[in-house]
Amino acid sequence: MSNKTFKNPILQETFNKILAGNAAWVDEVERDTTGLFKELAKGQSPELLWIGCADSRVPANQITNTRPGDVFVHRNIANMCIHSDMNMLSVLDYAVNVLKVKHVIVAGHYGCGGVAAALSQKQFGLIDNWLCHIKDVYRLYRDELDAIEDETAKVNRLVELNVAEQVFNLCKTTIVQNAWKERDDLAIHGMVIELASGKLVDLNLTFTDSTQLGEVFAYK
Ligand SMILES: [Zn+2]
Repeated sequence: MSNKTFKNPILQETFNKILAGNAAWVDEVERDTTGLFKELAKGQSPELLWIGCADSRVPANQITNTRPGDVFVHRNIANMCIHSDMNMLSVLDYAVNVLKVKHVIVAGHYGCGGVAAALSQKQFGLIDNWLCHIKDVYRLYRDELDAIEDETAKVNRLVELNVAEQVFNLCKTTIVQNAWKERDDLAIHGMVIELASGKLVDLNLTFTDSTQLGEVFAYK
């Protein structure tokens, strides 16, 4: 706990709520699973790497009904897997080659603000440079997307297409391809969360080897 004090009462109230929430959660976990924290302190062996959006409505553990220790997580705006993003690559390498996760899920979500922003012509500041990666995805599917008149439907279709491209981006890495050369128990999936129902929709974009990647993308 902390006895930090703030002059601003709103800051104080919201800060206290965070720590009180933690205390309540610790009690709850201890009641449900005696000894879990002691086990977790020894190490981790998660079977899943979750790459999701930073949006507050799509927390990996709650969505998959898993406990601490079950999911290795990387989240950023619009669940992007960018070839030069050392943060994402480091998480991927550690998860695949050290933790030896069995599944990697790129999880988008319908109504994604990042995807909607990328479909607009507005400037949002620094983030525009990140969102440009989504505009690149739009460029690949421009004909299909421009034919969709309803704005919500257009955003949601780009959410799906963006997940597909990010899955492909993961499969293109030497990290994933070299792991596939060594083992056959690594699957990369693309899924989308329906905010209105909480359901995880499988887009059936699963790769378990490099044979579907095409000549240029499959390393020898
Ligand atoms: Zn989002």
